Amino acid sequence: MLKDKDRIFTNLYGFEPCSLKSAKARGDWSNTKDIILKGRDGIISELTESGLRGRGGAGFPTATKWSFMPKEPTGKTHYLVVNADESEPGTCKDRDIIRHEPHKLLEGSIIACAAMGAQVCYIYIRGEFYNERLILESALSEAYDDGLIGKNACDSGLDIEIFIHHGAGAYICGEETALLESLEGKKGMPRLKPPFPATSGLYGCPTTVNNVESIAVVPTILRRGPGWFSSLGRKRNEGTKVFCISGHVNNPCNVEEEMGVSLKDLIEKHAGGVRGGWDNLLAIIPGGSSVPMLPKEICDNVLMDFDSLKSVNSGLGTAAVIVMDKSTDLIKAISRISYFYKHESCGQCTPCREGTSWLWEMMEKMANGQARVDEIDTLLDLTKRIEGHCICALGDAAAWPVQGLIRHFRGYMEDRLIKTRKKIMVEN
Ligand code: SF4
Repeated sequence: MLKDKDRIFTNLYGFEPCSLKSAKARGDWSNTKDIILKGRDGIISELTESGLRGRGGAGFPTATKWSFMPKEPTGKTHYLVVNADESEPGTCKDRDIIRHEPHKLLEGSIIACAAMGAQVCYIYIRGEFYNERLILESALSEAYDDGLIGKNACDSGLDIEIFIHHGAGAYICGEETALLESLEGKKGMPRLKPPFPATSGLYGCPTTVNNVESIAVVPTILRRGPGWFSSLGRKRNEGTKVFCISGHVNNPCNVEEEMGVSLKDLIEKHAGGVRGGWDNLLAIIPGGSSVPMLPKEICDNVLMDFDSLKSVNSGLGTAAVIVMDKSTDLIKAISRISYFYKHESCGQCTPCREGTSWLWEMMEKMANGQARVDEIDTLLDLTKRIEGHCICALGDAAAWPVQGLIRHFRGYMEDRLIKTRKKIMVEN
């Protein structure tokens, strides 16, 4: 288990104020100038050594992403865009980082800009996060007043501006290119890639989009040293992570833990255990609603990191752990998730626009017991026609929960369909 001395987010629960004074007392902004003066290569090389992988879902190495930005001036503004559009169901870690540790995000943004030669940072915050935006704006103005941001930021000789942009609450704007479209004042619709944002991003300029947590952990990693960060977790899955535990547990919570912690320990030690005890567990969605669920037999031993969860055909995603005990109607639960993705599809590509509606309709039919058993294969076939055939990952995100249900609970679905049809026949 993670020791208190190794926590990055020491005010995750907001026991102390989030003001600049308190943040400085916790060690934030303590030697930012020295970190910036390590230069682009110095910062990127230390971050590479730390092993940090993006905390927004995909797990791409953060330093590698930063290294894609042009090394020389291009005559255009270079941008860092922080994705604070946290909308994945079950996920509420970035919200708490912004609420209680906004200065970690701001300091990380300045360092990331310095490492990528970016002059401007936009923090795109989710529409529903109204109070969090006010907190972040207040932190931003404190930092400007203190000379930490703006002209000669942190006395480093660099001019770096940070702006906060409030979204309108569309899930798809969490997709990086849809976010950029939205920032430009257009409809939030994902772009075809290539070109990738590092070549042509915001307003056609070199841009890197990073998740809130990925940026907020950077100052501590560089302050304490990459060796410290990489000593935590497992190889290729280094460091700590904020997990969001919800659903049928006794104490739903956000908690920072070491990567590679066992799923069972995470729930029993931090969330007060599964309601009714571990044996009352039916299934867990381990990484936000888009990743395939896992049955109890796998949850007994699986570790919470990118590679372990991938090896059991699921994913760490946003590390939002949704626990479902034996009282859960799994078919109805996945049907509800299918409705969410249908609702949030931007409608730009046919397999997603049409497929997500069909998925939801078929799932509802299954949940109401109006489907035949052989339609489970039709449903699976439909998911395969969506997966990998769309512009962005929303299509996959809609397909995977249904695939996880069929992969692990086909017998459960068949029993349910047979029993419900029998009941309907008897009643008629
Ligand atoms: Fe839009 Fe869906 Fe296509 Fe993504 S996959 S671009 S959300 S229609």
